[in-house]
Amino acid sequence: MIEKILIANRGEIALRVLRACNALGIKTVAAHSTVDRNLKHVAMADESVCIGAAPPGESYLNVPALIAAAEVTDASAIHPGYGFLSENADFAERVEESGFIFIGPRPDTIRLMGDKVAAIAAMREAGVPTVPGSDGPLGNDREKNAATAKRIGYPIIVKAAGGGGGRGMRVVHTEAALHNSIAMTQSEARAAFGNEVVYMEKFLTNPRHIEIQVLADQHGNAVHLGERDCSMQRRHQKVVEEAPAPGITQEQRQAIGDACVAACHRINYRGVGTFEFLYDDGEFYFIEMNTRIQVEHPVTERVTGIDLISQQIRVAAGEKLRFTQDDISWRGHAVECRVNAEDSVNFMPSPGLVEQFHPPGGPGIRVDSHLYDGYRVPPNYDSMIGKLISYGEDREIAIARMRGALAETLVTGVNTNIPLLQRIMADKGFQAGGCNIHYLEKRLAEIREAS
Ligand code: ADP
Repeated sequence: MIEKILIANRGEIALRVLRACNALGIKTVAAHSTVDRNLKHVAMADESVCIGAAPPGESYLNVPALIAAAEVTDASAIHPGYGFLSENADFAERVEESGFIFIGPRPDTIRLMGDKVAAIAAMREAGVPTVPGSDGPLGNDREKNAATAKRIGYPIIVKAAGGGGGRGMRVVHTEAALHNSIAMTQSEARAAFGNEVVYMEKFLTNPRHIEIQVLADQHGNAVHLGERDCSMQRRHQKVVEEAPAPGITQEQRQAIGDACVAACHRINYRGVGTFEFLYDDGEFYFIEMNTRIQVEHPVTERVTGIDLISQQIRVAAGEKLRFTQDDISWRGHAVECRVNAEDSVNFMPSPGLVEQFHPPGGPGIRVDSHLYDGYRVPPNYDSMIGKLISYGEDREIAIARMRGALAETLVTGVNTNIPLLQRIMADKGFQAGGCNIHYLEKRLAEIREAS
């Protein structure tokens, strides 16, 4: 087993990794920025190293500082969490070249999947269904692009090959707007991702976002852990996730899961990963793969009983998977709410001092959060301050428990989106299940108009 892991992240995911390390008897090093010295996992880790100033470029994205921190603390592996350097192939390569284990896929796999155009091509070859699209990057030939869009059929969406975090995409409804939209997405992509390659996809008007969790070891074994529904989104960012996805049958789960497992074999995947799909009219369309642990992994952990981060560490250490696909089963229903320090009406970040934090509890409630009384939410990072996960024998119970948990949660000093989450849980459409990716924004617009 790995002896010591350097945690190259912050907040709730750093704490989650630390908890997995503790359970596995692995020593921990918390690599943190100057403003993060009071984070909960920093206090709990065996060792801690300040890697730089608050701006991510100087700390959590500072590759030499992270490698040096691993060297001075004699760590044997680096866990990147999500965000920051977790999907940076050059970082993974540097980690491995420096003699450490990178807790994630091979650098080449990250590179392949980080280029969405290449990822889509690889998935098509592996037999995974993809969205009808340009099947490659767009050039600057106006007529050719117009012909491609016409073939696909409007509306289309122009997306950055190097995009992420819901940024770098633009929906186009008419040929008149096409050329400008491509040019604008290209220049945005160049500025945001250092890669101006864009491609085109059919814009599915009412799909759901359903994704498949996979896990693969380094000995040619791979399994899927079923799906999550992440359709409750605002600005292409997930707000609420659940497992299983309402209405998906065991046959559908098995068919799409098997296709993902076959793709894992094909690309020689290692570690945990997620195949993201849009689901429309009974069909799955691959949009991208995330080569890391995801924010919403707990709902899968809850319904399968499998600790994904422990498994991720085990396979990184070279262990064989101890179970096969036939051993995996799904039980009950789990819902996750992302709690952000933000204004619940205008969604502006609300950093500052947390005066009081009372987490919820009771049967079926899990809280993944680094918050405590007196913790100061810095303005430098993502505004997520924690996740509430509820479980029930069925979806109705899971939602009822989540409503109780949200009502019980007390955070004072900073604003949170808890009122929004409560609204979603009380919403008849959400309660019915199977809402599409535009549902939340539509409801929010209706509420804005009414007030
Ligand atoms: P990112 O890497 O930025 O998260 P994705 O490709 O995963 O980008 O897309 C994020 C979200 O954008 C999806 O969950 C969906 O809401 C929307 N989206 C992406 N592609 C399409 C499409 N072809 N049609 C409709 N919506 C889309």
